Amino acid sequence: MKPVPKDGVLDIAVYVPGKSRAPEGIKLHKLSSNETPLGPSPKAIEAARAAVADLAHYPDGQASELKTAIAEVYGLNTRNILCGNGSDELLGLLCQCYLAPGDEAIHTEHGFLVYEIQIQAAGATPVVAPERERTADVDAILAKVSDKTKLVFLANPNNPTGTYLPFDEIRRLHAGLPSHVILVLDAAYAEYVRRNDYGAGIELVSSADNVVMTRTFSKIYGLAGLRVGWMYGPEAIVETLDRVRGPFNLNAAAIAAGTAAIRDRAFIEEAARFNAEWLEWTTRAVEALGLSVTPSVGNFILIHFPETPGQSAADADAFLTARGFILRRVTGYGFPNALRMSIGSEEANRGLVGALAEFVKSPS
Ligand code: PMP
Repeated sequence: MKPVPKDGVLDIAVYVPGKSRAPEGIKLHKLSSNETPLGPSPKAIEAARAAVADLAHYPDGQASELKTAIAEVYGLNTRNILCGNGSDELLGLLCQCYLAPGDEAIHTEHGFLVYEIQIQAAGATPVVAPERERTADVDAILAKVSDKTKLVFLANPNNPTGTYLPFDEIRRLHAGLPSHVILVLDAAYAEYVRRNDYGAGIELVSSADNVVMTRTFSKIYGLAGLRVGWMYGPEAIVETLDRVRGPFNLNAAAIAAGTAAIRDRAFIEEAARFNAEWLEWTTRAVEALGLSVTPSVGNFILIHFPETPGQSAADADAFLTARGFILRRVTGYGFPNALRMSIGSEEANRGLVGALAEFVKSPS
């Protein structure tokens, strides 16, 4: 059965975006959506500005120049690339094209909420695989596979935990899946990973006909506001999604900015270096306050709070918001007593740690 609206509304999970307001008169440090503090490459800004000089014409419906730039940077064939209005759109298209009522799709316990929403919107059933130490567990995922399973979603690094599954584990997962199941590797935070086995993901997609990888320009490329994502996958899957997507799913500024951004490798290398430095500094500084942090390889950390009244994540959220530091509540991800913090500018990271230090010392 297709999903039927109840009281006029489809009964599906709700995605609540991070807050973006500080109290009146206080400087805002928005650390709630894993955006980069460095913004986009100046070349991308220039390209977007040039593109909006012509607003009367439709954009290139094939996003050809963007696909060509991605193909060149990663040594891929453009026939294996599809661009999307953010990678969210591509995740949705995968569900729309490959799931029907009665089917199942698996995601991990603390996985990205959009999977569950899109699986439900397609009328299929989300199946949750438990994690081990807040990290995806290949055996637990394989144990959930049934003959109804059509898709498996795995974010690596995962959001909101920032944890990472080594690629030999992903190969083992792929090897254990029936060939009709598509493995979706969501690599939104790929560019931040400093592990030398990361490129193996691209190789796995190239060598299999049931693996796709989704990527985004919203994180390290600093183009969240323009909505640009891409997917790398077997031609048959790319072509299927290509038929179903909106004919002009990327706007002209997004195509131009994405093309310039992906070619500016020096900017991205510096952004990755900056993140690694402040990820480490912030993790250590928060731990030194006596709070536990899930070890992250992304551009964010998950901070866990004690159960003590007055010291919970909800208390910390209120305390920090009043001082202009906006973090993300992650209750919907199964963490009622944690806050996710994006790595920000030096000023934001130092300021946040200072405010947290005040908070942990405040009388409960
Ligand atoms: N996947 C993961 C794991 C994410 O954290 C996000 C952004 N929050 C996305 C996909 C979607 O990114 P976008 O649609 O901006 O490309």
